[in-house]
Amino acid sequence: MAISILPVPLNVYADQQRMLLLPTDQGRAPLPVPNSTRSFWIDTPGANPLAKEGSQGTLTADADVCIIGSGITGISAAYHLGIALEGNRYTETPLKVVVLEARDFCAGATGRNGGHLTPWVFRDFSPHATAFGNDEALRGIRLEQHTAAEIVKIIKEHTLESAVDLVEGGHIDLMLNAEEVADMRTDYEAAKAAGANVDTVRWMDEEEMIANYGTSYPGVSVPGHNLWPLKFVTEVYKLAAASPQLSLALHTNTPVTSLSSNGDSPRRWNVTTPRGSVHCSYVLHATNAYASHLLPHMTGPAGIIPTRGQVIATRASAELDVISRRSWSANQGSEYWFPRPVDAANGETRPLVILGGGREAETPSYELYEADDSVLNPQVGAVLRKFLPAVFPGRYEEGAEPEMEWTGIMGYTASGDPFVKKPAEAEAFKGQYISAGYSGHGMPRAFACADAVAQMIVADILGKAWTPPDWLPRHYITQL
Ligand SMILES: Cc1cc2nc3c(=O)[nH]c(=O)nc-3n(C[C@H](O)[C@H](O)[C@H](O)COP(=O)(O)OP(=O)(O)OC[C@H]3O[C@@H](n4cnc5c(N)ncnc54)[C@H](O)[C@@H]3O)c2cc1C
Repeated sequence: MAISILPVPLNVYADQQRMLLLPTDQGRAPLPVPNSTRSFWIDTPGANPLAKEGSQGTLTADADVCIIGSGITGISAAYHLGIALEGNRYTETPLKVVVLEARDFCAGATGRNGGHLTPWVFRDFSPHATAFGNDEALRGIRLEQHTAAEIVKIIKEHTLESAVDLVEGGHIDLMLNAEEVADMRTDYEAAKAAGANVDTVRWMDEEEMIANYGTSYPGVSVPGHNLWPLKFVTEVYKLAAASPQLSLALHTNTPVTSLSSNGDSPRRWNVTTPRGSVHCSYVLHATNAYASHLLPHMTGPAGIIPTRGQVIATRASAELDVISRRSWSANQGSEYWFPRPVDAANGETRPLVILGGGREAETPSYELYEADDSVLNPQVGAVLRKFLPAVFPGRYEEGAEPEMEWTGIMGYTASGDPFVKKPAEAEAFKGQYISAGYSGHGMPRAFACADAVAQMIVADILGKAWTPPDWLPRHYITQL
């Protein structure tokens, strides 16, 4: 295998994990910076019709539920609140829900990510089974399968395939050296032995990969999708806004700067913004990387670590049929890419490829504790520019400049899994919930985690007990 030509260090996951677990003197996360880099998903003209929604005029001052953050978590939670209330007392008195967003609509990680919706079939099974047991590792897979299936179902039920550019092209993991092959095999065998359904998995050797895809590394193929995340979230917002169970308001460009208690009032919390306060009974933190700004005890390795990811949009030199419609990842998931659909009507034949990764070139920090997405990291950018020409010789031009390049902030946790937190018994956080910390793998998890917190909130409103869905790993559920 032609390892030497690769521009990235290989198999650094373990070292990254070591860095992530180190104690830190970093303070809580800042608020999202206002002048972030321009992403393909957000800044393509017409892509973000809700960008400035509710940013001017009077702030909604009273709400049952205040959702902080308008990414896939926050907006999915609003949607699920409507579903969970169907047939309940709010049919005639809609639940008042307000979404507060620091920036333009969906301008956090969801509007700046790699666009992959790939539920793992077996990947990462072994470390999860070791840490949490087989049942939990299997639940983790079920959660991802459930999330992806639900997202695709909604898209199809509402005929949104072209509105969100859904591509069900499958996903290939490239294994760049023998160690990566061995790790993948270990995960596969462990998942299979534990009862995971691995029927969809197909292993491909170097010869098959050269013949079909023009790369000399072995691959393993699993089902997977890609889409335009911001457009999907916009459609989910429209569905939530149309729910008769909800009275939904959205205020963009309205950062939440603090939370304070309202004493014994049923509107337990004052949610403060520079435009005034919202009095509300429930607060959902859908702030992902920035969670510790409002919840300082979630700073550092026991909480959520802001981690900067970088992405380029680069033009392939081969046509889409040669590149293939699949999404890809390599190097333990560090690099990930997929070709955008081509605009054939306008004569486009060579796809724009969205490629993220390269953090492993920034040692020893790996961009951990970086929460500023107004800047690019030149070292990471240099690696990204070299990666595809090295892996697919002749299909990408060496030295080509990307058409766009941006950064976004992910929320990493020590386990790699998100927190789906409910209030502790003590009064301190009564009515506050969080779903966050997807560790760079949120598209196949956030929608369902948001469902779980929405169910918790509705159960509390209705005075009913909440039973976790079968697909939700129990170790995700902790207390604030
Ligand atoms: C570069 C990059 C590439 C990625 N690639 C992929 C991928 O291909 N596949 C995948 O599955 N996952 C990927 N991810 C991860 C995925 O994007 C996230 O896990 C997911 O989008 C998280 O959604 P969220 O709604 O929880 O967070 P976000 O989308 O970040 O939303 C949180 C929102 O809260 C707002 N906010 C924060 N604090 C406040 C406050 N105090 N007041 C008001 N608003 C606030 C932020 O502005 C933001 O809009 C990637 C992430 C990045 C950054």
